[in-house]
Amino acid sequence: MDEYIERLKDGSLKLYALERELPPEEAVRVRRAFIEGETGTPLPAIGSFTIGIDRVVKRNIENMIGAVQVPVGVAGPLMVHGEYASGPYYIPLATTEGALVASVNRGCSLITRAGGADVRIMRDGMTRAPVFATRDIIHAKETADWVETHTAEIREAAESTTKHGEFLKATTYIAGTSVFVRLEFDTKDAMGMNMVTIASQKVGELIERETGARLVSLSGNMCTDKKPAAINLVQGRGKTVVAGVRLSETLIADLLKTDAETLLEVNYRKNLVGSARAASFGFNAQAANVVAGIFIACGQDAAHVVEGSTAITTVDRVEGGVYVSVSIPSLPVGTVGGGTGVETQHECLAMLGVAGGGDPPGANAKAFGEIVAAAVLAGELSLLGALAAQHLARAHQNLGRG
Ligand code: NAP
Repeated sequence: MDEYIERLKDGSLKLYALERELPPEEAVRVRRAFIEGETGTPLPAIGSFTIGIDRVVKRNIENMIGAVQVPVGVAGPLMVHGEYASGPYYIPLATTEGALVASVNRGCSLITRAGGADVRIMRDGMTRAPVFATRDIIHAKETADWVETHTAEIREAAESTTKHGEFLKATTYIAGTSVFVRLEFDTKDAMGMNMVTIASQKVGELIERETGARLVSLSGNMCTDKKPAAINLVQGRGKTVVAGVRLSETLIADLLKTDAETLLEVNYRKNLVGSARAASFGFNAQAANVVAGIFIACGQDAAHVVEGSTAITTVDRVEGGVYVSVSIPSLPVGTVGGGTGVETQHECLAMLGVAGGGDPPGANAKAFGEIVAAAVLAGELSLLGALAAQHLARAHQNLGRG
């Protein structure tokens, strides 16, 4: 140990190169000891964890020193009636926000007592949009025209890099001499960002070769990955999922301690008018809370909460009660790849019956997307109800403050 620490100190060994000389577990231990020394901070808690190192250091993390632990709670059972997910589910939520699991749990009870949430996936496709530089606007138009008329070649190039990925379409956008090609793929059970990025490189090279346009960046930000963007909200990215449930007046009174009219008005003035006034992309109460909790628990890319938060919650007046729905236009989720194979995250996916590849491929990720949407609906109902009954501050005082 001392010998390696000395070499790290004198710069003859780089921190990231430890795994080249030591087995992963040793490398992590030495790196942590070095950081403890450099920062004067003992890290016994970060150094104590159960996840397997070998796989993680190869696929998920560089310069690993340990793991932070986020408590996981469950909400449910939540009755889901999707096309891929069907039945009662216990929803794992990893969070340190007191009252969140309790809130989602209340929404789950309400949905389950109401007979369950209907969920449908309206479209499914992960995107990557390279940007090309052209000589002038005439060349820009020629480049876009080439893309629009050579779908078969683009498909062949794209699909040469992946067994599972399926090319869906290429849409072009022009801004002056910049041409953006938004490539969309069915990525089956993978969230798909690596998959589509690798495929887009091949497509980018083909377009460059055939049109003379210069591939400037594989991501031209019209994808749009991990940034709030209207294009995702309008056209969708990842899965576009909608969940809805009909609630009777009696259920609203019993479980939410409010009534249909008040629920309707809170949703109208808060989620619709308030969000419009703020020019928000999120016309909802707390979609990001639920998406973040499930994403962290289930090994999703946490930065995709940006996309997942752009949900629209609606409350319609119907005979004898209300129909509440949540529409999530851009939900990037996967059950293979990324962080889904880390043991603790894998267990959370397994709890939902969606770990790994589905049969047929894509079925598990679609089921997972449906479960996430139903859970978001539960969170919406609970928070809307709490606001309608003026219970919000009290709940946080009791649950969020120890
Ligand atoms: P990945 O771990 O890179 O790859 C998943 C691979 O699993 C697929 O490409 C596929 O191989 C294989 N696979 C096996 N069974 C499958 C099935 N049933 N359905 C689909 N694929 C199956 O995962 P990814 O989802 O493409 O990318 C997720 C990772 O990308 C995350 O770690 C995320 O943080 C990161 N990320 C990357 C970028 C980027 O720009 N590169 C951006 C944002 C996030 P085949 O392709 O050979 O079929």
